[in-house]
Amino acid sequence: MKENIRTLTKEELKEKIVEYGEKPFRAGQIYDWLHVKLARSLDDMSNVSKALKASLAEDYHCDGLKIVEVQTSAIDGTKKFLFGLPDGNVIESVWMKYKSWDSVCISSQVGCKMGCKFCASTLDGCVRSLTAGEMLDEVYTIQKYTGERVSNIVVMGSGEPMDNYDNIVKFVRMISNEDGLHISQRNITVSTCGLVPQMYKLAEEKLEITLALSLHAPNDEKRKALMPIANKYSLKEVIAACKNYFEKTGRRLTFEYALVAGNNDSDKDAAELAELIKGINAHVNLIPVNPIKECNFKRSDMGAVNRFKNKLEKMRINVTIRREMGSDIDGACGQLRRKHMEESSGC
Ligand code: SAH
Repeated sequence: MKENIRTLTKEELKEKIVEYGEKPFRAGQIYDWLHVKLARSLDDMSNVSKALKASLAEDYHCDGLKIVEVQTSAIDGTKKFLFGLPDGNVIESVWMKYKSWDSVCISSQVGCKMGCKFCASTLDGCVRSLTAGEMLDEVYTIQKYTGERVSNIVVMGSGEPMDNYDNIVKFVRMISNEDGLHISQRNITVSTCGLVPQMYKLAEEKLEITLALSLHAPNDEKRKALMPIANKYSLKEVIAACKNYFEKTGRRLTFEYALVAGNNDSDKDAAELAELIKGINAHVNLIPVNPIKECNFKRSDMGAVNRFKNKLEKMRINVTIRREMGSDIDGACGQLRRKHMEESSGC
C-alpha cells in the first residue's frame, strides 16, 4: 500500500522531488499545501505541475482520513470523531473547546497492547501503529471540520505513544514546525503508561512537550492489578525516569490517576501516593474512572474524589480534578471504535 504523503518531512519531500528531476523549491510549495492549507488531494495544488503531481501519485497517496461518524455533545460542544484509515481500520479522536483555546486528543495506534484493566482501547490488542502522517491528519481533519485553529494536543487516545516512539517524535516535530501548523510544543502532552527506556530516550530529544505518566496506583502491588506494564517496570524505576525527564527538560510532569471506587481511592492510598511523588515537580490529575461494560470497575463518587484531593493538598501535592468534557457522548477512550466494530461485525 502507498504511503501517506503527509508522513514526509520537508527535507524528505525535497529529496524525493529532486529524484523526480524537479527543482527543490517545489517541496516548499507542496509542503505548504499539505501542512498549512491542509489540502485533501493533490488536485487542490494549483501551483504544482501535472507532471510532478503524477510522479508523486505513483509513490504516495494524499487521501485524508474518512469521517465515519461525529458525535457532538449537547452540553459543551465536544466532538468525538470516528475516522476511517485507508486500510479499513478505524480510530477515534476528540475535539474539546474551552473558552479561549481548544484541544485535540489523538490516537497513536489502532488499539493498544498494554492491557490496562479499565481501558476499552486495549481489549482487542494492538492492530498497528499510526504513521506520523496519520496522526497529523487527525489534527488537520478536525481543524478543517471545525474551522477553528487547534491550539493544544494531547496524545491520550487509543494506543501507547512510547510503543510508537519514532513516529510520535516525528509527529511532534512536524506539527510544531513553523512550516506547518506551528503548534507550540509546550501545548502538546504525551501520555505514557510508563515504558521506562523510552522515557529516558524522550528526555534527550530536546523537545518541550509535557510528559504525562499514567500512575493510577500508589504502590507496585495495586499498580500490577490495574496495569500489566507494572510487572515489567517497578514504580521505583518509573519515578526515577520521571525525575530524569524533569531534570533534562525542565518540564513539569503530570501524573494521571484514575480513581476506582474501593480500589485506589482511600485516604491511605492518597497518603501513600503523596509520599511516592513528594518533591517531584509535577501535578496530579484525578480522573474518576470511566466505567466500561467489559469490566466491573466503578468510578469513585464525588465525595471520595474530593476527599482524595484534599488529602493530597494537605500533603502539599498540586492536584486537579479532570474537568469532564462531553459527558453525554462519553464512553471511555476507545469505546466509540469498539461500538463501531461490534456493529459492523454484527455482534
Ligand atoms: N497509553 C497511554 C495513553 C493513552 S490512555 C497511557 O497509558 O497513558 C490516556 C489516559 O486515559 C491514561 O491515563 C489512561 O490510563 C486513561 N484511561 C484509559 N481508560 C480509562 C478509563 N476507562 N477511565 C479513566 N481513564 C482511562
